[in-house]
Amino acid sequence: MQRDAPVNNPCCRFCGTALRHTFVDLGMSPLCESYVAPEQFNQMEPFYPLHVYVCEHCFLVQLEEYVSPEEIFSEYAYFSSYADTWLQHAKAYTDMIVERFKLDEQSFVVELASNDGYLLQYFVPKGIPVLGIEPAANVAEVAIKKDVPTLVRFFGEELARELAAAGKQADLLIGNNVLAQVPGLNDFVKGMKVLLKPQGVITMEFPHLMRLMEENQFDTIYHEHFSYFSLITVEKVFAAHGLTLFDVEELPTHGGSLRIYARHTEDTAKLIGQRVTELRAREEAAGFALMETYALFAEQVKDTKRKLLDFLIRAKWEGKSIAGYGAPGKGNTLLNYCGIRSDFLDYTVDRNPYKQGKFLPGTRIPILHPDKIKETEPDYVLILPWNFKDEIMEQVGYIREWGGQFVVPIPEVKVYS
Ligand SMILES: [Zn+2]
Repeated sequence: MQRDAPVNNPCCRFCGTALRHTFVDLGMSPLCESYVAPEQFNQMEPFYPLHVYVCEHCFLVQLEEYVSPEEIFSEYAYFSSYADTWLQHAKAYTDMIVERFKLDEQSFVVELASNDGYLLQYFVPKGIPVLGIEPAANVAEVAIKKDVPTLVRFFGEELARELAAAGKQADLLIGNNVLAQVPGLNDFVKGMKVLLKPQGVITMEFPHLMRLMEENQFDTIYHEHFSYFSLITVEKVFAAHGLTLFDVEELPTHGGSLRIYARHTEDTAKLIGQRVTELRAREEAAGFALMETYALFAEQVKDTKRKLLDFLIRAKWEGKSIAGYGAPGKGNTLLNYCGIRSDFLDYTVDRNPYKQGKFLPGTRIPILHPDKIKETEPDYVLILPWNFKDEIMEQVGYIREWGGQFVVPIPEVKVYS
């Protein structure tokens, strides 16, 4: 594998090894949730490197902390409860976990990055005491209104020690889509060790690196996601802090996620399940413990960019019009990396009124109301949130009336008539 020039090399946020190997370099990109308002249109935007490394020692795929979590998460625009499918997922999880670990009024459930209470709200009617920990004050406020007690703090060892000293250790400790977003990974996992009761259980969900690589989901890389985990690596991180994974599930959420179950290493009564050994073996067979495997990804990404641009250039030569659908964070990584602006996409549309009337960060493509598609009858509609492509093709199926076609960019550009 080619080594990068040894300038300003960062260190692995888990094991401290100097990071010398590029996983993929997506160039300079703005923060993907920083939508541009019309009055900001003539102002500059900060761009940061979207350069991802892989650690040769522990295989943690990671971005440097270019932007502090305080900057990203203190006033966060993402409210989990806006997505219906995510709420169904949260409800189903609650029923399953309460049953599996026999949680009741005597138990204590803590969620890290509890957002607007989208999950803990389902424990409340069951009479199970809960506590949310959420650094973004604006979303925490919504949770409190739903009777979900919420602490507005960043989680780490210090807060865990305060809670443990106050007798508030958890029987169930939950973290969904947070492990990837913490820059101080060791402090965070150590905090979980401190906060967990001796027989307690941790469950965490995060996107699975194996799916990201196999399905070429490079657009799910953005500055807010500091780490990208395989099971092999997350096991090492937990083990270093006295925690052992005893079960794992593969979920379809976010293009393919893992839900891991962890316990204290000393709590050997909970046996390590077959799903852990089976997935570990599958990752090893796929080469996730070899640097050569990681080296292949960058070339695959460049190839995808060339194919997408090739399609768009041809379409424009043929005089076709192209509109976007959706304004998700992943779309911003894709468009900025590929250099696709309003020279290719006339506009994009989004159902979220907060985004309408604004512009995509970096590419400055206007975000309009979905009705604009009917009005302008584009030849192609490029679907940016590809994880919802079936839903969108159904909702916007009327483009077929004028011969419009859908284009999905990931894993590889594909046209659907
Ligand atoms: Zn490392």
